[in-house]
Amino acid sequence: MAQPDYYAVLGVLPTAPDDEITRAWRRLVLASHPDKTRTAPAQTDIRLVNEARAVLSDPVRRAAFDAQRVSNHAAPPPPSGPRIREHVSLEAFTAHPSAEEPERFTLECRCGQEYVVTVDELEAGVDVVGCPGCGEYVGVDYEVVEEE
Ligand SMILES: [Zn+2]
Repeated sequence: MAQPDYYAVLGVLPTAPDDEITRAWRRLVLASHPDKTRTAPAQTDIRLVNEARAVLSDPVRRAAFDAQRVSNHAAPPPPSGPRIREHVSLEAFTAHPSAEEPERFTLECRCGQEYVVTVDELEAGVDVVGCPGCGEYVGVDYEVVEEE
C-alpha cells in the first residue's frame, strides 16, 4: 500500500520546520474553504491535508514517517537514469548567443517552461536536459564538431 507523501501533500520540504508546516496546512485549509472555491475549485483532499499536518506536527509520528519515507524513497535511481521523454536534435533548440555568458540553447517544454542547455554543458558531455517546470527530461542529440 502506498503511503502518501505528507510533505508533498502540504507542499513543503522534508526539512520544513513546524511553523512552516502549520502555515502550509492553514493555507490549504483556507484555499479549500467553500467560500473561496468559486473561482478555483479545490483539488485538495482536505482529509489528507489534515492527516499530513497531524503526523508532521507530532515529533514522534513525524520521525516514524520520515524513517518509513526514507526506506520507501531511498532506492537508488534506475541505472537508465532519468526517464527521457524524447530525444531532440540540438537543431530544434533555439540558440541564444551572448557575449557574456556561455551560449545557451532553449527548447520550450509542453508545460510552458524551457529546457536550457549551455555550450559549456554540451562540451562537458551533457546530453540530457531536465525541465525546471515539470521535471521531464529530453535527450539532446548533437554532433561534436572538432575545431581545427
Ligand atoms: Zn516541462
